[in-house]
Amino acid sequence: MKKVVKFAALAAAAVMGVAALSGCGGSSDTLTMGTNAAFPPFEFTTTNGLVGEFDGIDVAIAKRIAESMGKELVIEDMEFDGLIASVKTGKVDMAVAGMTVNPERLENVDFSDTYYVATQVMVVQPDDTSITKAEDLKNGKKVGVVLGYTGDTIVTETLQVPEENIVRANRGIDVVQDVKNGRLDAVVVDSATGKALAEKNGLKVVEDPEVFESEEYAIAVQKGNTELLDQINEVLAEMTANGEIDALAEQYDGATGE
Ligand code: GLN
Repeated sequence: MKKVVKFAALAAAAVMGVAALSGCGGSSDTLTMGTNAAFPPFEFTTTNGLVGEFDGIDVAIAKRIAESMGKELVIEDMEFDGLIASVKTGKVDMAVAGMTVNPERLENVDFSDTYYVATQVMVVQPDDTSITKAEDLKNGKKVGVVLGYTGDTIVTETLQVPEENIVRANRGIDVVQDVKNGRLDAVVVDSATGKALAEKNGLKVVEDPEVFESEEYAIAVQKGNTELLDQINEVLAEMTANGEIDALAEQYDGATGE
């Protein structure tokens, strides 16, 4: 009798072991990251990227998270504006997209601890002296933003640039090109991205810290997915403490891919 019980206990332990290895609770051996890979240096495409064609600070962080769970990282590239819905419906496990924590997004997803502080900047022609502060954008300037980015909210709601002067694009890379070719006077975009794209296109960055407040990036997961959130926070804490995040920011400084 005793023997049988022991065997049953062992069998149960074996089953549990297998379940743990395969990630119990129906989860698979992949971790899916949703992103918008037009936001260098956080995510961009290039030949020989870190994960397939994808590279950048966020890709490196997500890869570490997947590795810590013994999973393979899968990347779903989509429009930034669709990321929150994709996390909400479970199409992706997490959004890692230089995403700023804000109250509206917090209503729909849970955020990890923050891992990067940014601010909005203006990208303008190198010889432009008519835009030195955010308010100047209201003087009949054609201003580009990326749809659904915090820059869109600031230009539309905080600065109240007239609607007919705002151009909304889907990709940060494209909208900065339009400053270069003269279709736009300025683009309002996150600092590290603005800096990288300005350098690449021979444009200049103008800052206005009084109007553009700092914002913090975090990783979004489905509401209530504390298991994944705890895992993400553990990796982020480790990468912050051991200087890995700083090293990545330095390594990818100015990187734009091709
Ligand atoms: N930080 C900005 C936001 O959250 C832009 C992010 C992005 O383009 N990937 O809106």
